[in-house]
Amino acid sequence: MCNPDNNPDASHQLSSNAKAESPERRSFMIRGLWGLCGCVGLIVNSDMVVAQSVSADPSDQTPFGTPMPHDRDSCPVCGMFPARYPDWIATVLYRDGHADHFDGAKDMFKYLLDMEKYASGRKQQDILRIGVTDYYATARIDARTALYVAGSDVLGPMGHDLIPHLDRFDADEFMKDHKGQRLLTFQEVTMELLLALDRGEIPSQ
Ligand SMILES: [Zn+2]
Repeated sequence: MCNPDNNPDASHQLSSNAKAESPERRSFMIRGLWGLCGCVGLIVNSDMVVAQSVSADPSDQTPFGTPMPHDRDSCPVCGMFPARYPDWIATVLYRDGHADHFDGAKDMFKYLLDMEKYASGRKQQDILRIGVTDYYATARIDARTALYVAGSDVLGPMGHDLIPHLDRFDADEFMKDHKGQRLLTFQEVTMELLLALDRGEIPSQ
């Protein structure tokens, strides 16, 4: 029988081993706790899951919460690469983390108004956020509350576009400075207007 009490060296060795192991065990326990938090998040908060799955690197995400396009992400409407036009990027982000990017608000609206054609298999109700780039601040803002100017002297990558603004003050300023013809809310944009913009026409109503 081996009795550590009868062997001071063995006893000493045992206790120093236990000390050496303790930090490792503590870090294992912390990791375990984080894992548990992750599981709880998965169950109770689907937004948290989206935020985690969209991007592990916060620099890939705008302050508004939409991801940045990668270099090879193409616009589902025209096929151009939105990353090449940072001042015009619009993004539709879904709850499952998938995002589609556009080289301007006009193509984003075409997509939203004809999802059967441009977003096969996806539904409006699965969209988490829609971001457009504010003309003056060139920052991503909520597309649903933005105001859009049609018929100005400012052209986007796809020609005549809807120019997004954060608020009425900026939109009015832009209308004056750039000969804007119409000011629209998100809900007022129609496919007819978008197709007219493609032809360089601005319907008055
Ligand atoms: Zn496009």
